Amino acid sequence: VKHDGRNGFCFFTSEMQAHSARTLQLGNALRHALTRGQLHLHYQPQISTQDGHVVGAEALLRWQHPELGSISPAEFIPIAEDNGQIIPIGEWVLRTAIKQLKDWMDSGLPPMIMAVNLSAAQFRQSNLMELVTSILDESKVPHRYLELELTEAVAMDDPQLAIGVMDKLHTGGIKMSIDDFGTGYSSLSYLKRFKVYKLKIDQSFVHDITDDPDDKAIVAAIINMASSLGMQTIAEGVETAGQLSFLRLQGCNEVQGYYFSKPLPAEQFVSYLQKQGQ
Ligand code: C2E
Ligand code: CA
Ligand code: CA
Ligand code: CA
Repeated sequence: VKHDGRNGFCFFTSEMQAHSARTLQLGNALRHALTRGQLHLHYQPQISTQDGHVVGAEALLRWQHPELGSISPAEFIPIAEDNGQIIPIGEWVLRTAIKQLKDWMDSGLPPMIMAVNLSAAQFRQSNLMELVTSILDESKVPHRYLELELTEAVAMDDPQLAIGVMDKLHTGGIKMSIDDFGTGYSSLSYLKRFKVYKLKIDQSFVHDITDDPDDKAIVAAIINMASSLGMQTIAEGVETAGQLSFLRLQGCNEVQGYYFSKPLPAEQFVSYLQKQGQ
């Protein structure tokens, strides 16, 4: 029995108990995940709707635990946010993704943009700008090749802070995109003040885009608004040719999703590029 302080008592169900036991277990295991080499990045191609070329890659974190198997970032990122591990992990993600991009460029692949997800805790770190620029400069990667993805929910949680951080990154030549756009209740007056390069239309709107008139209208409105504000658009979770053709017709700049490729280990990402003739 747990005393909740307000209306007396509440009871842990066995499901809640199992949930908190796993959270605890993952939280502890996460402390060693980096040093034991259990974390990896996969890269998902981002494709221009203009010419079908791969113009970018999103780095997505993978955790392979020796006993627990592969654990989804949707499960472990929130735990890492809570216990602070997201700070060293997030820094490792930035370094690894930038180094990968540098290796690809050195090996003669066409330059492209590397998109890296930023957690709420990283976004609030006062030295974010210094960290990002030092990683880029150490690897001799021009700032314009990095794009940081911040979810709309995190940006809108503290819009004043977001405006300040975005201004700083923008001045440093680093691109920002707003992830999961449409799910975080942006106020348009703030959106106008965000130095954002790209809106990433959430996959929940893309899913039924060929059938659902509401989703069609929402996606068309986001694309038009972005274009009026001088922002690019990318749609995530594109799985079918029908979705692609609707998005292209509406003027969405880029697409990403299983229709093209799932997130791939670095070597397979290169094979994918070669198969596309890039
Ligand atoms: P997200 O940033 O919105 O990433 C998109 C998710 O959709 C990825 O899941 C990706 O694998 C998946 N996806 C891509 N194409 C399709 C598609 O066509 N259909 C469907 N149904 N799904 C698709 P993933 O890799 O499991 O990542 C889940 C979330 O974990 C990410 O959502 C992001 O919020 C977080 N995450 C992943 N890597 C990192 C990281 O390095 N740092 C931070 N802070 N968060 C990360
Ligand atoms: Ca993302
Ligand atoms: Ca997203
Ligand atoms: Ca998402």
